[in-house]
Amino acid sequence: MKILAAVFLIWLAAGAAAEPSADDPIVIAHRGASGYLPEHTLVAYAMAYAQGADYLEPDLVLSADGHAVALHDLTLEAVSDVRDRFPDRARDDGQFYVVDFTLAELRQLRIHERIEAATGEQRYPSRFSADLGHFQVVTLAELIELTQGLNAVTGRNVGIYPELKFNAFHEAAGHDFVAIVMEVLDRYGYESADARCIIQSFEPAPLMRLREEFATELPLVQLLGENAWGMNDVDYDAMYTPEGLAAIAGYADGIGPPIARILTGVDEDGRPAVTSLVKDAKAVGLDVHPYTLRADSLPEGVDFETLLGLLLQIGIDGIFTDHPDRAVAVVQRLQSEREPASAQKASASP
Ligand code: CA
Repeated sequence: MKILAAVFLIWLAAGAAAEPSADDPIVIAHRGASGYLPEHTLVAYAMAYAQGADYLEPDLVLSADGHAVALHDLTLEAVSDVRDRFPDRARDDGQFYVVDFTLAELRQLRIHERIEAATGEQRYPSRFSADLGHFQVVTLAELIELTQGLNAVTGRNVGIYPELKFNAFHEAAGHDFVAIVMEVLDRYGYESADARCIIQSFEPAPLMRLREEFATELPLVQLLGENAWGMNDVDYDAMYTPEGLAAIAGYADGIGPPIARILTGVDEDGRPAVTSLVKDAKAVGLDVHPYTLRADSLPEGVDFETLLGLLLQIGIDGIFTDHPDRAVAVVQRLQSEREPASAQKASASP
């Protein structure tokens, strides 16, 4: 009996060490495991799930008939064969807008690895070949069904982390983007603060509306860009100040800044140069989920694991990454370094 009890204790301790706690940083699969398979495809999401990601991230835009689909751009030519399939459907600017196509039409497209629309070159040359594969557009509902279906068979509780893209553009096109997305989330039971669904946007307006008009309990994350990017008519510089962060805390639960706003490089002594952003955000109760960690697009002189280790040391609460497997490995290693004492104690019992 004593041996059995000891084995049980070891099993318990091992289980406890492997079980993620609410305080552990989350790994957010940026557009799926997009470092390995074309972004926003069902296979990229399934791979991210299998790699141990905590959340699967879709960017969302709308089809002409009001379906939320997982795509990053307002236009289709960088990730699909739209020019060949629908040659006469470009607007006067020569671009093919997602919102001009019905879902049935979007499903006819071959989705491929991201290229530069102007040159045809792959954005990330070492990734999955843009010439290969027969991938299709994925709706928000399809991504949710994949996630919930896998959760049911694995017993895990992987979440989704949808981004509302170009809300003002969609409103101008006559769509109530926020209401459309909320209808889908409601239908699949994402309602409470612990439902494993976080909503993000670069625009404050839809987040404020979600908090006030929709009175949602879902966690909201304000993405932070740069004024130089000239998007959304938002003054991001103001948002990075302590006053700006306090204002964000009035409607959101976290921020998603670029990594370069936390780690700016190295100082004169060769040590990492860290801004006060994480500290300032924490001071007003905001979580910090920086973007985007890519193994094949790192700042000079630092590797993936070192960079993530530094960010975790600074106190980030999650990371958007194209390579979820490598981020999961870093987080798990830190967990096991933190918790070996209890496991050793249990195995030392007679
Ligand atoms: Ca995104």
